[in-house]
Amino acid sequence: MEIVPGLHQLKTPFPGPALPYIMPYALLGPDSVSLVDAGFGTPAATEAMTEQLARLGREPKDIKRLFITHAHPDHIGMAGWIKEQSPDVQIIMLEREWQWIQDRWIDGEAWTRLSDGWLVKHGVPQEEIDAAHEAGALSPTSPAVKAGEKAAAPSSNGASANGSRPGGGNGKMFDFGTPVLLQDGDVVEFDGWRLQAVWTPGHTPGHMCIYETNHRLMFTGDHVLPYISPNVSLHADQEGSSPLSEFRDSLRKVASFDVARALPAHEFTLADLKGRCDVLLHHHDERLDEVRDAIGAGQVSARTISQTVKWNTGPFDDFNIFMKRSALGETLSHLRLLEDEERVRQVTTTIEGGDDRILWEQIG
Ligand SMILES: [Zn+2]
Repeated sequence: MEIVPGLHQLKTPFPGPALPYIMPYALLGPDSVSLVDAGFGTPAATEAMTEQLARLGREPKDIKRLFITHAHPDHIGMAGWIKEQSPDVQIIMLEREWQWIQDRWIDGEAWTRLSDGWLVKHGVPQEEIDAAHEAGALSPTSPAVKAGEKAAAPSSNGASANGSRPGGGNGKMFDFGTPVLLQDGDVVEFDGWRLQAVWTPGHTPGHMCIYETNHRLMFTGDHVLPYISPNVSLHADQEGSSPLSEFRDSLRKVASFDVARALPAHEFTLADLKGRCDVLLHHHDERLDEVRDAIGAGQVSARTISQTVKWNTGPFDDFNIFMKRSALGETLSHLRLLEDEERVRQVTTTIEGGDDRILWEQIG
């Protein structure tokens, strides 16, 4: 679909049932093409890319630039393949996102230890985790974390409303050398296009929206989607941060741009970006109240709170262990913000055997 002359919305397939596809955007130059996101690196996705570029009179070797909104596998997964097809391609992303990937590059076993300890600390019974390991669902070679390929980073694709699925592993996902690193506000100009990097942390720490200033278009990646509320989780290795607080600030940030049309990476294009940002802000305000109310009068774990609040995808107890981990992360991102607002506090208790458990209680 042509959005404005020379800018085309493509579709590459999403493996698994979470979403049907991801929408890369192709910006055409005289004999080149620049992409905003690309998709998974699966054969089905690279075939779809090749075929759709052919319809535009381009080939994979013509790809000169690949802008990455964020480092989840449905956005960055094809980068290694593109680098093979077009060795001079510039892979372009925010420095903050690149740094985040580096920070998360730990081996599979270390990640498993960290993640399991985190689940237990927030109330998931050890037996439940052991059962998932026995079923092979949490092994370090599972798609979420492939040992040795430094792909531990994106364990949730983030595009589902509440639960999230494990990221598809791809040996070539980060196999493209060091990218061109942008800062918030940097502008890249080429072939009549003028793209401005807009740092929008929340869904990931270095998520980038891109403002095309000539046509007042905003590429929103997963930050703002027309229907789904993107996953905003506090992950096991981000205990000190407040992603939901960042996400809300990032919504206000993109809402302040003069935008004729928003171009998200999933679903469909969006005419009223500001209106959608307002809806998402309101959604999280309500969710904050729901999470606080779920605590009740006592001290409870994030797991208990997650069992009490409503999920679009069904009750928490029916989730598989990946979805539970993701749902816990969502609950914790709300708890962290409530804590910052002094509406809840966390209490650390030491159980028999000396392990710590984190519980939450209301303030006031
Ligand atoms: Zn996505």
